[in-house]
Amino acid sequence: MPYSSRRVLSLAVLALTIAGVGGARAEVAPSSGYVAPEPKARVFPVARSKWYSVINFKDDWLAPRRRFVDGRWRQVGFHEGNDIFAEPGTPARATTKGVVEQAGWLFYSGWRVGIRADDGRYWFYAHLAEPPAVSPGQRVESGQTIGLVGNTGYGQTPGHKDEFSAHLHVGIQEPTGEWVNPYPLMKRLYENAQSR
Ligand SMILES: [Zn+2]
Repeated sequence: MPYSSRRVLSLAVLALTIAGVGGARAEVAPSSGYVAPEPKARVFPVARSKWYSVINFKDDWLAPRRRFVDGRWRQVGFHEGNDIFAEPGTPARATTKGVVEQAGWLFYSGWRVGIRADDGRYWFYAHLAEPPAVSPGQRVESGQTIGLVGNTGYGQTPGHKDEFSAHLHVGIQEPTGEWVNPYPLMKRLYENAQSR
């Protein structure tokens, strides 16, 4: 699990940092029972804009994707991401801080945003309702609104809305180019957001 190992690593770095600071400020050194709060480095990418907002998602990693093309169903690939369903117009947010690499229209993805995180991972958000709220080259913080949840895509014409329900497609690409399943992290971020 790259996330948990990375998390352990970042906590270790944090502990070292605290230990270093503690030398100069011994009076505020945390007790042995102290648990440092996890920095809000990552944010669940769909906002809960109203208390009754419905957000729904499950592990759909590598689910077969079929489309009705030229009179018959064809498998067009496997799902390399996680779909988070929400009401159209719900703010979509950057999970991590980073630099926007792509923002605009793509045939399958509709209005989409690609963000290169500081750790080299590429975060891909698709099917936004409107042109993205960010531009290539722009630096974004985690939690920053990048657009609105929608159902655009599967069309040449920018703005084409398709038949599927509004959702945010989230994809995570490792620096090696390999796409990985976002669901475990999405589930954890969602549950953390609910418990507050
Ligand atoms: Zn998807």
